[in-house]
Amino acid sequence: MHSAETIVVGGGMFGAAIAYGLRRSGVDTIMLDGSDGSLRAARGNFGLVWVQSKGMGLQRYADWSRESAHLWDDFAADLQDSSTVDVNLQNGGGLNLLLSDEERENYRRNIDIMRQQAGADGYDCDIIERDEVQKMVPGLRVGDGVAGASFGKHDGHVNPLRMLRALHRGFTKLGGRYFPCNEVGNITHDGGAFVAQSAANSFTAPKIVLACGHGITKLAPMVGLDTPIRPQRGQVLVTEKIEATVAMALGSIRQTDEGGFMFGNSEEETGFDDGTTLAVTQNIAARAVKAFPQLENVRLVRNWGCIRVLTPDKCAIYDESETMPGAYVATSHSGVTLGAVNAHHVSRWVSTGETPPNFDHFSARRFDVPKAA
Ligand SMILES: Cc1cc2nc3c(=O)[nH]c(=O)nc-3n(C[C@H](O)[C@H](O)[C@H](O)COP(=O)(O)OP(=O)(O)OC[C@H]3O[C@@H](n4cnc5c(N)ncnc54)[C@H](O)[C@@H]3O)c2cc1C
Repeated sequence: MHSAETIVVGGGMFGAAIAYGLRRSGVDTIMLDGSDGSLRAARGNFGLVWVQSKGMGLQRYADWSRESAHLWDDFAADLQDSSTVDVNLQNGGGLNLLLSDEERENYRRNIDIMRQQAGADGYDCDIIERDEVQKMVPGLRVGDGVAGASFGKHDGHVNPLRMLRALHRGFTKLGGRYFPCNEVGNITHDGGAFVAQSAANSFTAPKIVLACGHGITKLAPMVGLDTPIRPQRGQVLVTEKIEATVAMALGSIRQTDEGGFMFGNSEEETGFDDGTTLAVTQNIAARAVKAFPQLENVRLVRNWGCIRVLTPDKCAIYDESETMPGAYVATSHSGVTLGAVNAHHVSRWVSTGETPPNFDHFSARRFDVPKAA
């Protein structure tokens, strides 16, 4: 039996960020993870630290995303310090290219809704014209079919695989204990301690955090929590590496610091099927070429499908069990964006009980709507 002050179940973007934050503040922490066969959104995502369009219907989530983006500068520096891994944060703002008048009009309406919802706090996102887009992306010719873009000044991007590496390496260098290939199948609670069991090992601690993506669905009921999440597939395409031309974060066509472009990402209701399809791949590639015609001659080298972790309103869920205090769930889409708040605020909530303002807005109880008579 391995014992600690806190067990974090899940070593993806959420689990690793929370475990890292716990260890950063000196909490004796064990992080348990699945294996290569697990669903792992942490290894197939797009790498955006993205604020625009987040939180429609839940202003607290819009604020949470913006706060995380602001914390990212310090977080990236801290990760580099503890892990020696540079996540290559670029956060000078982000563009979401709009490829038709209809897309532009729909996005403009969304901005109006978000602005009304934000009230006095304001919503920092505006539609800009094609020639302004061209000035922001001088290295590539912007296609004639581009009808403008939305620009959000808080947006940015990182290298997501290096972010995961930095979290894991930082966690272990700080003295955290990481157990890969230890998928938790059962959790019991007895005498003030939780016991988590994998096929090979048992782990015990007075606190347990379930931050294991789709693995939560099976485990949350074992600690008295209901955490509604569903799968959604996104396909991503990667090109060969070419000379760096676009440093700015772009919503669905971005160049990584290593030179390759990533194109994506679709939103498909295909259950847990993480395959790829030619029709979606062609559509994504066609959009990229419409945005930047020069990309027509750049070779695609890889593509994948990966499963998002979505709550019913696409905003985060953070809950502590009422029947078994000391058990927590933390889950959401946007685990890259939320890495900084997860490492700072969520780990502090778990270790000290101190909650950020209006943190109850993130409870899954917001979905408990009484049935109509
Ligand atoms: C196509 C795509 C693009 C995306 N783009 C972005 C983006 O640009 N920006 C952004 O912010 N977010 C993005 N995301 C979302 C982001 O990747 C996820 O929000 C994040 O990975 C979720 O983190 P997680 O730790 O909850 O789940 P995951 O990253 O899926 O990790 C779950 C981990 O838990 C482990 N596990 C599961 N069950 C158990 C168990 N029983 N016991 C132990 N371990 C277990 C798994 O092995 C895995 O390592 C994207 C996602 C997808 C699919």
